[in-house]
Amino acid sequence: MTDALVIGAGLAGSAAACLLARGGMSVRLLERESAAHHKVCGEFLSVEAVAHLRQLGVDPKALGAMPITRIRLLCGTIKAEAPLPFGALGLSRHALDEVLLGRAEAAGVQVERGVRVLELGDRSVRTSHGDRTGRHLLLATGKLSVRKPDGALPRRAAESFVGFKMHYRLAPGAVCDLAGTIVLALLEDGYAGLQMIEGGRANLCLVLRRNRLALIGGDWNGVRSWLGESPGLRGLLADAEPLFERPVTIANLTYGLPSLVDEGHVLRLGDQWAMTASLTGDGMAIALRSAFLAAQCVMAGDARSYPAQIAAEARGQVGRAMLLQNALHHPRMRWAGVRLARLYPPLLTHAARATRLPEWEPRGNLI
Ligand SMILES: Cc1cc2nc3c(=O)[nH]c(=O)nc-3n(C[C@H](O)[C@H](O)[C@H](O)COP(=O)(O)OP(=O)(O)OC[C@H]3O[C@@H](n4cnc5c(N)ncnc54)[C@H](O)[C@@H]3O)c2cc1C
Repeated sequence: MTDALVIGAGLAGSAAACLLARGGMSVRLLERESAAHHKVCGEFLSVEAVAHLRQLGVDPKALGAMPITRIRLLCGTIKAEAPLPFGALGLSRHALDEVLLGRAEAAGVQVERGVRVLELGDRSVRTSHGDRTGRHLLLATGKLSVRKPDGALPRRAAESFVGFKMHYRLAPGAVCDLAGTIVLALLEDGYAGLQMIEGGRANLCLVLRRNRLALIGGDWNGVRSWLGESPGLRGLLADAEPLFERPVTIANLTYGLPSLVDEGHVLRLGDQWAMTASLTGDGMAIALRSAFLAAQCVMAGDARSYPAQIAAEARGQVGRAMLLQNALHHPRMRWAGVRLARLYPPLLTHAARATRLPEWEPRGNLI
């Protein structure tokens, strides 16, 4: 039995595994994918996420991350733009997750790739490659739930969203226009984000309601027509070369806070704890913050205080971010919001500041 069994090698899982191993614990990390892979994510690294990555010894700029200093909101033909109140970065998850996993391995974590966890026990899991046990169980499987022995999946989607991601090589004019800017196009029943990432590529990521996807034909062609409803986005994507054969997708996205039930030895990290509104680009920061807090609690022999600690740190962000995202789903609010931001751009800067996590310094023994 290892001290800690971490399930899922995304940002939350790899960061927590790395910190625990650096703290002298024996750690096993299970990841269902056998190699680096693309994930549905806007790839916008906010200031808090960048700070946590640096605390872990990862410098996103050294990986080619692109600076982002402005935000542009599009709604129909209306455009509002303002400076961000912090410096953000654009970096692909394909690159970032792999580097963090490498840091965990270098710290002594026993990494098993291509191993899928099928069922969750209290201190053990059933996997595609047999059972594994750990004194502490850290669940970091992102948006994917793992079955419990009673056969129930912990969270179910009442009204869910679908996510798509595609990397592009943009036309030169569009590259200049997009440089340093995160563009958010607000659409009927969803939104799309576009920004530059490393290697001269641009990342387009979007979410839309499942029933809207059905209405527009249920496929990527329908999604592209839906995106075309934003003239600004259409202009940026004109003559863009798609870099994947097909988009990366994820279904059944349910946003919001978890129900607070005591799950014994299971600690939920990252999106398994809560899925904040992706529009605010802070999910990766929450994933990393949860990893630091979980590692801190486990190493202090006080794992039971983790749920309260992560709630105290991140509940406010999720609440504010959800309020904003839900408001923008209403057509009138959307139009009014963007018009207002056009008239008074500091509103955008203020909204970006208001949807950050509180500042936080890890305890000395963690880094
Ligand atoms: C459309 C969209 C756009 C977003 N844009 C941004 C953004 O721009 N900025 C930002 O900060 N956040 C963004 N987010 C949120 C961000 O992507 C997540 O919050 C973040 O990825 C959570 O990290 P994680 O480590 O919890 O999960 P993940 O990164 O999803 O990692 C989970 C890992 O667990 C593995 N796994 C899953 N199931 C199993 C299993 N059964 N057994 C073993 N392994 C398993 C997966 O393969 C994966 O590697 C966005 C989210 C969405 C949906």
